[in-house]
Amino acid sequence: MPEMKKMPVLFVGHGNPMNAIEDNEYSRGWIEIARKIPKPEAILSISAHWYTKVTKVSDAAKPETVYDIYGFPDELYQVAYNAPGAPELARQLKGMISSEVELDNSWGIDHGTWSVLRRMYPEADIPVLQLSVDSLTSFDAHFRIGREISSLREKGVLIMGSGNIVHNLSMAKWGMDSGFQWADEFDAFIRDRIKARKFEDVINYGNAGKSSEMAFFTPEHYYPLLYVLGASRYDDRITIFNESRTMGSISMTSYLFE
Ligand code: ZN
Repeated sequence: MPEMKKMPVLFVGHGNPMNAIEDNEYSRGWIEIARKIPKPEAILSISAHWYTKVTKVSDAAKPETVYDIYGFPDELYQVAYNAPGAPELARQLKGMISSEVELDNSWGIDHGTWSVLRRMYPEADIPVLQLSVDSLTSFDAHFRIGREISSLREKGVLIMGSGNIVHNLSMAKWGMDSGFQWADEFDAFIRDRIKARKFEDVINYGNAGKSSEMAFFTPEHYYPLLYVLGASRYDDRITIFNESRTMGSISMTSYLFE
């Protein structure tokens, strides 16, 4: 058996679905990260956009591209990400998680996943599976699941969380290419806590104070970060990339643990 490389863990701020097709600082950042890390055997994506009432995993052999986006240019609906699935890995994954997990093939590869992977791995030749984000469980539980699946890294699996640390669409200003002050503050609070490995303050994000009240009104884009932190190890090197805010209320800040 060849020695399996230990894969990094990645959190990506995905933001606007147009990043899937636009050449901009964010999509270039994703391309660079893919060049930097070892090519994975498989990719496990935890996307903010598969938000369910229990944890689900897909064991489809050929997952469909899901167009969970509305009112975008036709070009975006022409994107297909025809990566193979990973049915065997899906079943292993189910066994690794101590809480209930349902196999469910009614979803596929959603834009939280394909907008990023299309740039990172345009050949779509690496098997991809998604793990859903349980809307009913606690902040701690998302982190705990990350811990439980961490050993997949030794099996060549890239664990990727795709969301946004600040994500408040009701405040978003299209065309603005910076952040509101509270968005900058919250993003910086989380960055400093991650760097100091004070993950309890990321789980208990209210410790950020006033900025935490605006950062998001619903947590689905924040939760994927908790899986990634759970799957990280104390001796991982942390690289921060795409560190910025856009549209006032979206953070694109992304983290690599390797
Ligand atoms: Zn999103």
